[in-house]
Amino acid sequence: MTSPASATVLVFLDPDYEYGRIADPTQPQLMATDLGATRGDGVFESMLAVAGRTRKVQAHLDRLAGSAHALDLDIPDQDAWRRAIDTGVAAFRSDNPAASPDEDEAVVKLLVTRGVEGAAAPTCWVQVSPVGATGRRQREAGIDVILLDRGYDSDAAERAPWLLLGAKTLSYAVNMAALRHAHKQGADDVIFTSSDGRVLEGPTSTVLLAQVEESDDGETVKRLITPQLDSGILAGTSQGALFAAAKAAGWELGYGPLEPQDLFDADAVWLISSIRLLAPVNHIDGKEIGTPALKKQLTAELAELFAWVE
Ligand code: PLP
Repeated sequence: MTSPASATVLVFLDPDYEYGRIADPTQPQLMATDLGATRGDGVFESMLAVAGRTRKVQAHLDRLAGSAHALDLDIPDQDAWRRAIDTGVAAFRSDNPAASPDEDEAVVKLLVTRGVEGAAAPTCWVQVSPVGATGRRQREAGIDVILLDRGYDSDAAERAPWLLLGAKTLSYAVNMAALRHAHKQGADDVIFTSSDGRVLEGPTSTVLLAQVEESDDGETVKRLITPQLDSGILAGTSQGALFAAAKAAGWELGYGPLEPQDLFDADAVWLISSIRLLAPVNHIDGKEIGTPALKKQLTAELAELFAWVE
């Protein structure tokens, strides 16, 4: 069996190579003094490729451009990224033929670092690698989550743009520390709250909840709600795509503000993201969320809608 490192494909965006320059993932490729390595100074995106098609590419490229803008990084145009993505995904599939159509998936990351001090342009590359087993398992079995205070209030993004709260920067050490903290408590994941008591997001995912009610004329009303996008969270491309699909399927949509009690009162809660997709939340801080039968039905319905997202 190939190791994840050797299965990985790297494609650097390089003006001398129209379709990107493929590089050896088992050899050093960055300077040790790259500011991405020494300061986490850069931005990234993570996407899922299924059967050779990378999902939601435009939404991810747009968010990458927004993150780069927030850090004053001048990155290559979207067509150059698209060509490098196609090169990387094709090379990955040819190096790692899927054992079955269900397993024909890959993680496609877009990475940008500021480069070494004084570099004329950032260093940019695409990394294509296998999907881990944990995400697939959590989609099926669901996850237990704890609430953790992120320490900022929900107005911090607007008041202090230098905190880069809505950008997807390479500085994920805090997010990873929160996940390790959860694992030590026996939980799988985290939902961050603000210091003023609002529900924010997961360290690598967006929070969604569903409320199901009977209307006065006996109709079933299904409502999908996510925290306000301007509360210092990353605008999820998965949430955006699922909201569009759910609206077309007759769901009502809502955008916070949400408090932890809204999660405890919901008929279902999920963490959604591009790689793990829709992970149903079984418990928050040890309390069961929703009722198993309704939660299963809503999860199946939304997972089906999300599966059709391009
Ligand atoms: N919020 C954070 C902090 C994330 O890191 C991510 C994804 O990595 C998300 C939300 C979900 O974003 P997307 O649905 O675009 O994967």
